[in-house]
Amino acid sequence: TPKQPSNLSLLLQSLVEQARQLPEQGKVADYIPALAAVAPEQTGIAVATLDGQLHTAGDSSQNFSIQSVSKIFGLVLAMNRLEEEVWQRVHMEPSGQPFNSIVQLEWEHGIPRNPFINAGAIVVADMLVSHYSASKAALLNFIRKLAGTEQIWADSEVYQSEKEHGNRNAALAYLMKSFGNIEAEVPQVLDHYFYQCAVEMSCEQLASSLVFLANRGVQPVTEQLICSRRDAHRVNAILSTSGMYDQSGEFAFTVGLPAKSGVGGGIAAIVPNYGVIAAWSPRLNSFGNSCRAMFMVTRLAEQLGLSVY
Ligand code: GLN
Repeated sequence: TPKQPSNLSLLLQSLVEQARQLPEQGKVADYIPALAAVAPEQTGIAVATLDGQLHTAGDSSQNFSIQSVSKIFGLVLAMNRLEEEVWQRVHMEPSGQPFNSIVQLEWEHGIPRNPFINAGAIVVADMLVSHYSASKAALLNFIRKLAGTEQIWADSEVYQSEKEHGNRNAALAYLMKSFGNIEAEVPQVLDHYFYQCAVEMSCEQLASSLVFLANRGVQPVTEQLICSRRDAHRVNAILSTSGMYDQSGEFAFTVGLPAKSGVGGGIAAIVPNYGVIAAWSPRLNSFGNSCRAMFMVTRLAEQLGLSVY
């Protein structure tokens, strides 16, 4: 069991201060103007624990674009609806490739390596589009239920901007469609995917929303069953091998937690039987993972002895 520091909030405060003093590293995602315009110095962290407490520091209540962290929400929703069928259409192997890579899709006949790279999340988006009459609303409602607030939306500027600059994701989707692994029409699938990427949340909301993954599928405070124990295990397993893209191996090596990053600069790390760490700062390293968020999560995991290994 992790060490419970006498004052976790003070520790988080000191991590935010240290992160803010790091020599400037990385750069803000600039593939769409709406993300390039985000103030790069913002830095926040929140830890939600199974006893319902929330510890925070820095810009932890500031909303940001969750981007690929949304791949967790989409996957859990699809697993609940489609069960084993999910794994006929997306695998559970690390890709070792950048998040938006297309190369493996051709030789693997349109079956993505895992649900946390873009290709995999697009297949999951197709599952949602095909199984829900209003998949975007279903996803947003699911996130709101998890976060315990109605105050969560997709940012319309980011959503539009993703659509206008989505050629690579469109290429992934059409290639998979050519292999028969996309059921709905590609524009509709991409529409869902871009919407999901554009959802905005704060570190506080993100940490509280994902606690069920640290608690065998059950949201601790409300005691709602969100997914089966087996599925919580499965999501955490794939997060461990693939949640940080082609830096997942290094992240397992140095941190040892199931985690998901997004190009908005957010990272959510699951600490089984303890809680969830959500950290955010916009500047990204070459893998598309936030430099400062990586720093804070790494230090916190070291200091509290959180590694699952
Ligand atoms: N919207 C981004 C994309 O599809 C999400 C990727 C990410 O956060 N890594 O390219």
